[in-house]
Formats: sequence, structure tokens, C-alpha cells
Amino acid sequence: MDLITKKFFKLFWQSEECRTIFLQHRTELLEKEVDLLITTKHHYMPRIFITNINRVREDTELLIFKLEEEELEVNHFFEEFAKNYLVEEQIKTYLQSKFPKGMQLIPAFNLETPNNALFQIAQKIFEDWQNEVPLGMSITKHLINTYLLPTNIQFENFEDAFNYFENMVIEEVKSINLKNALDLREVVDTIVKMYNYKFKRNLYDANLKFGASLLPANKKEYKKRLALLDALYDFEVLSGGHYEGHYECVECKSFKCVSTTDIKPSKNELKCPNCGSKMLHIVPYRIYDKVHEKIVQNDGLLAGAIEYLLDLKGQNYTKNGYIEGAKDVELDFIIKCEADIYVTEVLEIKMFKNKDFDALKTNLLGAIAKIKKAKDKLVKLDEGWKEILFSVITNVRDEEVLKTAKKEAKSDLEEYKIKFFTPMQFLENHD
Ligand SMILES: [Zn+2]
Repeated sequence: MDLITKKFFKLFWQSEECRTIFLQHRTELLEKEVDLLITTKHHYMPRIFITNINRVREDTELLIFKLEEEELEVNHFFEEFAKNYLVEEQIKTYLQSKFPKGMQLIPAFNLETPNNALFQIAQKIFEDWQNEVPLGMSITKHLINTYLLPTNIQFENFEDAFNYFENMVIEEVKSINLKNALDLREVVDTIVKMYNYKFKRNLYDANLKFGASLLPANKKEYKKRLALLDALYDFEVLSGGHYEGHYECVECKSFKCVSTTDIKPSKNELKCPNCGSKMLHIVPYRIYDKVHEKIVQNDGLLAGAIEYLLDLKGQNYTKNGYIEGAKDVELDFIIKCEADIYVTEVLEIKMFKNKDFDALKTNLLGAIAKIKKAKDKLVKLDEGWKEILFSVITNVRDEEVLKTAKKEAKSDLEEYKIKFFTPMQFLENHD
């Protein structure tokens, strides 16, 4: 573990605020990247949103309304642009002869508005760009999706696919005559307009899902949370300057800007230069990559926090280990005696999404059933396993759910020597 990660986990164990944020399941804390056609690998964005949107709640609706207006405006602008610069008939004929399959299958390729289809692809690529999907990958994905790249050719890598497309375009673009030589300024303006809009929409949507829960509406709690985020910034767990943030005056509506800032989370409270009101801000911060790795690993951040504790106490343990003879039973942490001869305890980490009472209870009971099965297999190998304590550490902090689940599974917990802990109970119990 490097120094920044250690500092982070130290803070995690010291601060209730920190645990509240980072004990959220990764799907609730981070945006999930779109399914990538080629890698099919899911990717969680390494960023969180700092915003005062909760503090200006009534303006949230206003902003949605404004975004919708802007969308209309941008679409209109693009249509005008296309009308002036692209000869629709020619593009239509071209697409029809070259990509009949795409024209049939993709609703975006409405023959009446081929330019819209191109616009939609461009929008998707912008979205990916904002989400840090490498541009080559994004372009290739969308071109294959819309049959603009042949699906029967296996490309070795994105570069090949991209080169193929590039050559094809160079070859074919000669057949599309542009009415006027393209006015470069106009093109750049259109792209900037589109980009700004898409960017803001993304920020806004992601922020509603992932930012709003981060910062409470209550003023006192909001201040406390901001102080923690400042500490994370000081520790370099969060850093600014990687993404553009959005600032807007929702009072006089005459000032808004997009800015790449690298300032403390609490310093984003800017005043409108025009009317002096507090402005709305939505600013993404990047999470330090080693901490991000811990959040997205299978057992979630809690496993990293436990690892930190065990290291601190100089425990002898194996992470994600197996016992000889039972290779199908993976144990999150196997704690051994100092001499490395026998196992003293097994730790299982269970991070769940925040669901309702019954669903969480089902999750907890499911975890018990799984451990019972694992332990049965181990006991078959060696009777001694019967006496080994299995401690389950969970991010579920609702005492009532824990109590109910424990009560329902009381005999199993006793028979199989299984104990449940919240992170803090574990800390107090294992000191
Ligand atoms: Zn203002």
C-alpha cells in the first residue's frame, strides 16, 4: 500500500463521514461506463462530483428545463448547419449505396434525415470522450454499431479499424461534394456548442445520480461533508483539474462558465460576478487511482480497509486464499497464527447495494448460506475447521436489519461459528 492509500484508510477508520461515503457499493458511488462492444469490460469512472445542487434544490427543476431548451437549440443549430453545408440528397444516395444494412437496421438512419444520424453518432462519440473512453475506441465502436465499418472484418486493434475507416473516408469523401467549401469557423462553433451541451447534460445526469447523495442538503451536515472532502483533497485522494466543471448563476441567469479548476472542494462556492448570488456548481474530482482500484475490486473498498487494519497490526494473513484440497472455496482473508502453522480465523467481506429492509436481510441470509456451504466442504477435509471462527464484515450499518437477520439465523450462526460485524464493531472487537 502506498502512502496516499494508507492516509486514505487511516481517515476511513477515523471519520464517520468518510465511511458514509466510501462504504457505498461501487455502483452507487461511481458512474459505470457504457458497455463497450469490443472489450465488453465494465469500467467505473474514477471520479466523484462535488456540487451544491442539494442546497439550491428549487433550481434543479429549472436547470432541467433549461437543458431541454438548450437541446432543442443545439439540434436546431446543427440542422441549420447541415442544411447550409451538407447536400442531403447526395449523402442519402451515398449512405444508401454504401451502407444498406445500417440504413435498414439503425432507426437513427432515417432516410429522410441522414444528417441527423451522423449527428447522433457524433453526439455518442462526444459522450464517450467526456467519459474518458479513448477516442479511437469510441469511434470504432460506434462505427461498427451503425454498420459504417464492416462487421465481417476482424480488426487486430483499434488503430487498424480506425485506419481502415480513415482510408475509406479519404477514398469516398471525394464523391460527396460539399455545396460550399466548409467554413472552418462554423464547423468549430458547432462542435463547441454541441460539446458544451453534451458535457453539461452528462455532468448534470451523473451528478443527480452520484453527486446528490454525496452532499447532504442540511447545512450543518453539508459543512461537515465538505470539510471531509477538503481533507481528501489535501491528502491527494481527490484531485481537481482533470475534468471540466460547470458553474452557473441560477439567480440572474446571466453568468455561466465551464472551467477546469484545481481548487479545494469547499472553494467552489463562487459568487456571480454580475449579481453577487451564490452560484450553482457541479465539479468532478478524480479519485486517486490506487484508491479507485480498491473501490472497484470484487469485495469493494471494505476489503482494502480491512487489509490496512491487518497490516497495521502485523497480522499474518492471506487475501483471497484457498485451502489445499478445496480449490473451489475462496476465502477473503485467512488469518493464521504467527508461526504460520494453523488458521485462527477467516474473514469474509460483504458489501451490498443500499436496498430496502427485506432485500438487505435476504442478502445477509444469503451470505450465511454461502459460508455454511464453504465450511461444510472444509470440515470434510479436516474436522478442525468446525472450531474456526468465520467473521463477516459488512457495509450494512442498519442495526435493525442486522439484528433481524442474526435472529433468524441464530442456530446457524452458533452451529457454524459465524459472527457478523459492522466495520466499527470489527475494529473494536479485534483490537
Ligand atoms: Zn447572477
